[in-house]
Amino acid sequence: PALAAAIERGRPVVPFFVHDDDEARAGAASRWWLHQSLAALDASLRARGSRLVLRAGSAAEAIDSLLAQTNADAVYWNRRHEPAAAARERAVATELRGRGVDCRSYNASLLAEPWTIRASGGDGYRVFTPFWRALRANDPPAPSQWLPDAIATPDRPLASEPLASPRSGAASGAAEFAGCWTPGEAGALDRLHAFIGSDLARYGQCRDQPAAEATSRLSAHLHFGDIGPRQVWHAAVAAAAEGRAQPSDVERFLSELGWREFAYHLLHQFPNLAEVPVRPEFERFEWIGDAAALRTWQQGLTGYPIVDAGMRQLLQTGWMHNRVRMIAASFLTKHLRIDWRDGQSWFRQRLVDADLANNALGWQWVAGCGADAAPFFRIFNPTLQAERFDADGSYVRRWVPELRALPAPAIHAPWAARPADLAAAGIRLGADYPWPMVDHASARQQALDAYRRMRSGAPAAVRARGAHQGGSA
Ligand code: FAD
Repeated sequence: PALAAAIERGRPVVPFFVHDDDEARAGAASRWWLHQSLAALDASLRARGSRLVLRAGSAAEAIDSLLAQTNADAVYWNRRHEPAAAARERAVATELRGRGVDCRSYNASLLAEPWTIRASGGDGYRVFTPFWRALRANDPPAPSQWLPDAIATPDRPLASEPLASPRSGAASGAAEFAGCWTPGEAGALDRLHAFIGSDLARYGQCRDQPAAEATSRLSAHLHFGDIGPRQVWHAAVAAAAEGRAQPSDVERFLSELGWREFAYHLLHQFPNLAEVPVRPEFERFEWIGDAAALRTWQQGLTGYPIVDAGMRQLLQTGWMHNRVRMIAASFLTKHLRIDWRDGQSWFRQRLVDADLANNALGWQWVAGCGADAAPFFRIFNPTLQAERFDADGSYVRRWVPELRALPAPAIHAPWAARPADLAAAGIRLGADYPWPMVDHASARQQALDAYRRMRSGAPAAVRARGAHQGGSA
């Protein structure tokens, strides 16, 4: 929207991107995606006679220098909603407006701005269902797809950082993701059309089965703005109108876009959503600072195949299926009682779709400390979850190949498999695949005991809450 509005002014336009400190701090997977996405954007601008100008450092200084070099009198951008980025935008806008520069910002990344959805009393929502009802009441406006074939550029060429600089993520060590993803607008549209054309029709039935690959896998494209949620929304609604998908599948899919909106709605109300539990009593929870256990979880060696499959899918592709994110996160926070912020930090480093609001919402939801969260005492049994959502074991077989030859359901609980089945599958527990790092029943009981102590305000009885470990431990 910002680019289209700038072009409509009828004057030369300088499309630019500033690599600021946020980008420098992002995980390797995110930096890899961003680099690819910017390269695709640059190619698309070049096809219109323009190009992307890249600058590094503080946005305020980069914009200052561009204004000085071009004598531009207007700066347009698409808004970001992460608290630090939003504050930076406000500061830049105030400064520039004070100097008479025409500053305008646009909503490209959300169906509705977080502050526009309000309960009758005027407050924001803390529970998803009424939020969703309010959001769903009106279809969001369809996005304009308009862009001219040619974009006027200034006569004098402008200096630009090279696309592939050390800051850029070109060499972030995540190049192995190239076979899994096509960042950029064309890749996003291909994925959207493929999803709408086939998987949307089975979304309701299969979205929770990780092996079915029935979800859109648009999350990173949405995060980086390769595509906007309104485009996705209207494509899904059109599929229902044309009879290409059942309304129930489409509604289910739209409501997932709704969860993304809800995450930003909550972030707007709780700017420190990624650092502080929405339910304050969780600050008293006895998390265990066990760096070795955290590493075991990160590497997918817990001995619980469904957890390990998810963690390895993350390592190898930069993405994990939503159901498995829930199982793996539940295992970390409840079976291992490791602080949700350590898990969040690992996801932030490793996910191609790492997103401040969605990641924080997901972790607070699973840990039970969020606004509209799963109650802490409902503790997933990873084996039952696996038997339910990966009944034939094909997801585990794909990501934990050492268990490939075990039949289901034994593949989900190799420690309980018959010795003959293990031998036939060539598996020696403890050598080829680990024993479970904790026993489900006793880990569950200890988690419930810790929860009870937190609720009653009793002093820590077991191991003191560990220091925050940081995901790179
Ligand atoms: P689809 O099922 O096709 O859904 C369409 C879109 O809706 C997604 O692309 C996504 O933008 C949005 N969406 C779907 N589910 C959720 C959800 N539960 N919460 C918020 N938005 C949702 N999602 C991220 O984009 N970034 C994250 O960093 C992130 N971290 C998570 C951490 C945990 C612990 C959990 C449980 C979930 C997390 N999610 C995160 C949400 C969800 O897992 C992913 O959005 C989803 O798996 C992406 O796959 P998809 O695009 O195929 O989803």
